[in-house]
Amino acid sequence: MQIRHQQERYVLETRMPLLQQRIDAINEKLRASKAPLIEMNITGPIIRRIHFGLYSRLLPVMKVELNRELDGPKGEVKMLALSTVDKTTQWMEHKTFTKLTPEQDVQVRLTDTPCLCDHCGTNRIRVYMYTLEINNEIKRVGSGCVDEFAGLSIRSWQAAYEKAVESIEKYSDVDFSVVDDHSVVPVMDFLKEAVMHTKEHGYLTFNESGRSSGYEAFQALGDRLDAEGDSPTYPAEVVEKAKAVRDHILKAEADPERRDKDYWCNLLSLVKYGHLTMRQSSLLCSSIKSYETHLSKMAKPLEGASLANEHFGKEGERLPLKNMQVASAYVDEGEWGYTTKITMYDEKNRLFEWKASGRFEVKPGDIVHLVGTLGKPETFESKKYEKIMYKNTLKRCKFHSLEEIDELIEKGKNPKAKRRPKEPMPEAETQPVW
Ligand SMILES: [Zn+2]
Repeated sequence: MQIRHQQERYVLETRMPLLQQRIDAINEKLRASKAPLIEMNITGPIIRRIHFGLYSRLLPVMKVELNRELDGPKGEVKMLALSTVDKTTQWMEHKTFTKLTPEQDVQVRLTDTPCLCDHCGTNRIRVYMYTLEINNEIKRVGSGCVDEFAGLSIRSWQAAYEKAVESIEKYSDVDFSVVDDHSVVPVMDFLKEAVMHTKEHGYLTFNESGRSSGYEAFQALGDRLDAEGDSPTYPAEVVEKAKAVRDHILKAEADPERRDKDYWCNLLSLVKYGHLTMRQSSLLCSSIKSYETHLSKMAKPLEGASLANEHFGKEGERLPLKNMQVASAYVDEGEWGYTTKITMYDEKNRLFEWKASGRFEVKPGDIVHLVGTLGKPETFESKKYEKIMYKNTLKRCKFHSLEEIDELIEKGKNPKAKRRPKEPMPEAETQPVW
């Protein structure tokens, strides 16, 4: 089927070089016969949804239009129509070269003298009549006079034009296999789907399993877009992590260790383009793994002598806590449901503990950001580190993204600063937050 919308044709972005070659060859012949060249207006790339029966896919395409105006030696010539006139009945069949205005349409179709030539002024039996607009005047001209009238070989130009149309139609034609190879999905939706997929099924590569997480997430997203439309919804923690992965990729540009590596260059251009094909899905999916590795590298070794040497703040104080490294997280099931005891260290190795109600999927080494209220400070003797530990207890905590915690810290410094609207986060008490 052809990708077209009324008069417009859409050609797959990847096919444009071939189409351009075809048009160049046609123009080479026109140039040799000193006829005006065929001009192509190209816009894009744009992403268009193409429907195939029950399902649809997004394709990156260029909008291609042929310019029908000729710059002839006698002025600007517009080919409007070629009419075939029946010798006995004078019944006319029209072939139009452009979308006619109502005025032009009247002059093409509703003439009392179908065979009167405006060039030589004679009215005799003619089979082919051209309707042209030259210097803003509409003229009907017999096929024998048209070259002299326009100052160029209309017939060879018309043949070239038709060849060009044929090429565009050929190149705008797609079938299922082509669609499968070229269809794209939005980068952000893919990252969300892949985050969810790898969380549920683990991260798989072709070499390990013959199935890759990237391909599976790509396919699952295609089905989801068909079923749910253009903005599928994901749990807040999935959205949050997908954004963090995207930001991690974007930061590669300013990172001297990453910016020259092909791997990161390819990811950067994918994210900037905004869409990816199935072939690129494994690459983008692997960025989730890279991001996780990056996070675990950020975690610092916890060495006893430097740990938990002081209390912090005042009891009852509510604080934003950024870059907290989780040291342990124990889930307990009691009469009233789950509780999670999370211990973590801040950047100065001060120890914090939060006994949270609910089940939180954090693990040692995770870096988290939260706002909490300080409880009673405690001290205890650690058998592991053989020393006295100063512990800050926390109450009523809420996890935040890095972006949010920075904003809260900024707001704390300057209370008048406005907070930007953000996506709603679930309550910490009821759901894990990433
Ligand atoms: Zn004539």
